[in-house]
Amino acid sequence: MPGEEIKDALDAAEQLRRHGIPTVVTHLGENVSDTSETERVTRHYLEVLEQIRARRLDTHISVKLTEIGLDFDPELCYANLKSLIEKAAKLGNFVWIDMEGSSYTTATLEMFRRVRSEFPDVGLCLQSYLYRTEEDLNQLLPLSPAIRLVKGAYAEPPNLAFPKKQDTDENYFKLAGTLLQKATAAFATHDEALVHRIANEADSGAISKDKFEVQMLYGIRSKEQLRLVSKGFRVRVLISYGTYWFPWYMRRLAERPANILFVLRNLFSKASGSYKPARPAFASASLVTLR
Ligand SMILES: Cc1cc2nc3c(=O)[nH]c(=O)nc-3n(C[C@H](O)[C@H](O)[C@H](O)COP(=O)(O)OP(=O)(O)OC[C@H]3O[C@@H](n4cnc5c(N)ncnc54)[C@H](O)[C@@H]3O)c2cc1C
Repeated sequence: MPGEEIKDALDAAEQLRRHGIPTVVTHLGENVSDTSETERVTRHYLEVLEQIRARRLDTHISVKLTEIGLDFDPELCYANLKSLIEKAAKLGNFVWIDMEGSSYTTATLEMFRRVRSEFPDVGLCLQSYLYRTEEDLNQLLPLSPAIRLVKGAYAEPPNLAFPKKQDTDENYFKLAGTLLQKATAAFATHDEALVHRIANEADSGAISKDKFEVQMLYGIRSKEQLRLVSKGFRVRVLISYGTYWFPWYMRRLAERPANILFVLRNLFSKASGSYKPARPAFASASLVTLR
């Protein structure tokens, strides 16, 4: 994370723009259980859309539905989401919907179907670790959806998700093939081997590099981000911000011990990307983004 405030995120987006990298910003927060708080979050994102426009950035927003009411009032969530998508459409922007833990998958898909049938300027995240995702994707295809494909960041039981990382990776590649052919695809992963396989698959199917996007997190594999851009790929970087990072970060560590390795790697590695902010490696490591 470049910092806790939206200004920090948009300053970082301006820096990335100079390297030809568009961005997407997301406010850290989830499981909001109060109407006025969901409205405050929605007003905040509306203001963020204005700020993006004022700075003339190619920066989307990405929203967690439980931050705008999904947990306790789906109609309120719909109204909040709709106001964001309407505003984004008016300003020529785009709204991504994050995918949360599996207890929200069905409700999130329903919400996406509802808003996608009304508006084109909205995309959805799908997770390759879930067995159900292949079928979910097939059912969404008639909507010509924009899909951000991820491996998945939550601790899920083996009856719902592949317990082995290798199977999640293979499923990712399989789903990527469908996305390349039939949807607007964003491949959100730092797995360089996987990106390479997908790029080869696109090439062999005569799908040009500008037909899909690779998305990565701010500050993670930044050299690779720049290398991909130099090879003609479209790369978009997700920047998180907000004061909720500590509880959220600790929860992610507790849920998925593999994340501890990511933290340690970042603590002890030097800042390697040429767009990293000039701050000590330790300081930026303490705010490394986990999803
Ligand atoms: C743009 C974007 C949006 C996302 N949105 C969602 C979402 O809505 N829902 C959801 O469940 N998940 C989301 N994720 C997280 C995703 O599910 C994975 O947990 C995360 O991207 C790590 O998996 P990977 O595909 O990079 O592959 P992995 O195989 O896990 O990692 C590949 C390599 O990348 C490096 N790496 C990966 N992540 C990090 C990190 N955080 N810090 C340091 N090094 C790292 C590691 O060195 C690792 O060896 C998102 C990820 C991105 C990039």
